[in-house]
Amino acid sequence: MAALLVLLSLLLLLQHGVCGLSRERLSRELGLRLSQSASITTWSAEEYPRFSEYGAPRPGAVVTPATEQDVAIIVEYCTSNDISFLAQNGGHWWATTFHLGSDGLLIILRDLNWVTFNSDKTEVTAGGGALVSHVIDAASENNVLVHTANCNCVGILGALLGGGYGNLMGQYGFAVDNVLSFNAVLADGHLRTITSEDKDLFWAFRGAGSNFGIVTSVTLKAHPVSPSDQTGWTGMLSYSHDKVEKVVEAIKTTHWQPQMSIILYYTTTGSPNHAPRVAVSPFYHGTAEEGRSAFSSFFDLDPIHDTMLEVQYPHWNDGTDGSCSKTAYQPAYAAGLATLDVNTWKKVWDEYVSFVSLNGTHETTIMMEAYPLEKARSLPESSSAYAWRNKVNFNAMAIPSYHDTKLDSAAVAWASKVRDMWRATDGLDSPAVYINFAHGDEDLSVVYGQNVDRLKAIKASVDPTNIFNQSFVL
Ligand SMILES: Cc1cc2nc3c(=O)[nH]c(=O)nc-3n(C[C@H](O)[C@H](O)[C@H](O)COP(=O)(O)OP(=O)(O)OC[C@H]3O[C@@H](n4cnc5c(N)ncnc54)[C@H](O)[C@@H]3O)c2cc1C
Repeated sequence: MAALLVLLSLLLLLQHGVCGLSRERLSRELGLRLSQSASITTWSAEEYPRFSEYGAPRPGAVVTPATEQDVAIIVEYCTSNDISFLAQNGGHWWATTFHLGSDGLLIILRDLNWVTFNSDKTEVTAGGGALVSHVIDAASENNVLVHTANCNCVGILGALLGGGYGNLMGQYGFAVDNVLSFNAVLADGHLRTITSEDKDLFWAFRGAGSNFGIVTSVTLKAHPVSPSDQTGWTGMLSYSHDKVEKVVEAIKTTHWQPQMSIILYYTTTGSPNHAPRVAVSPFYHGTAEEGRSAFSSFFDLDPIHDTMLEVQYPHWNDGTDGSCSKTAYQPAYAAGLATLDVNTWKKVWDEYVSFVSLNGTHETTIMMEAYPLEKARSLPESSSAYAWRNKVNFNAMAIPSYHDTKLDSAAVAWASKVRDMWRATDGLDSPAVYINFAHGDEDLSVVYGQNVDRLKAIKASVDPTNIFNQSFVL
């Protein structure tokens, strides 16, 4: 009798997925309701790798919807059956906020990757699974520019829903400033179109998006251009390490034009020496001649290596393709900065040199991104839920990278120390971070700033049981 009871309990546990969500159960209960091209599989880290495996979700099963309506059916199924879920697209979110375990479901959005344009090419609609490369390739073919992130493998929406920085910021503001409407599945399992008329949700999705629903498609402004307007100038300028302070000073005193942006890197030179190096990657939307003139102060510093090139729109992001590689452990820490303290950046350099002297850490990077912000600041801070429009001028990131988990604690200690150093001279009243660069241990006010109360009120009304609960939950 006792054995029978144990067997029955085990069967019940299995049925309710407590021992892990099985593909068999999903196929039986959900499969027939989805469109024919949707699929349900078992999860494995090899098949669904992430930018950082540190704190990465370990779901029991994976469903790949083929249509926007499939997403609605999946969300409704999960809420009715009390199953946790997480939408994944580019897989680049590195924050440690995910807590999806073997009883949870990963929703892979990659098949929702269409990109279409309206008849006069002033609007582009991208599926919720489109990557930056999909949008740029389609935009280039249609002679338009679309604001995207600077890395081809990043999800259009993953970046946009947090605010969205990119090469075209100086001309078009944040990605969220370019949104015309979203199609999204909300907590009630319904697919809705959200426009500026839905005052609260339209505001909340643009900065805190992944807390409010799964976006199945987005319509953005597209900017028609002549073929010659697809020219950009980009690459890398490397310097000897005695120039660290001068390079940082040059970024600090840059005379911004809307066509410019720049990223500072502390990286290593690669095999066989893996020597630490300081470099910048300037970008200019225009010709090499215009770019060299705009960034002349960086040439005055005598770079020791210069890979700057004029390239067409589909190749603007080629230089960041190396950052697309996945499966390393990368517990990154970041800080928004109002100003650049040159001394701090020299001390951070010393910390960098010390950390990459450890075996297995040579892919570690320090990055700092700077963009012209005048266009973004022509809109009020309250125009979207992105909190730091008027306060943060630079975004700094310490990204340890390694494959041996024995380095976890050294990496966390190092990167969090570097964040403390930045915070100590950030020029802000209180710490700030771009949600898409955050570590996961930040207070909500560091991520959402003055918007916490309004976001919480909207969350309570549209997602009262908190089913979208994997990223800086409100
Ligand atoms: C190499 C690299 C380059 C980067 N470059 C930039 C950059 O140029 N500009 C910039 O602003 N940021 C950049 N980031 C940060 C980037 O915006 C975040 O990592 C972002 O979360 C990545 O989105 P993803 O779809 O690739 O990742 P995912 O991990 O798949 O998704 C990120 C988060 O968004 C949610 N999400 C994804 N798609 C949807 C959707 N359709 N609807 C609702 N929620 C969704 C996920 O559930 C998850 O919470 C970069 C990051 C990396 C690692």
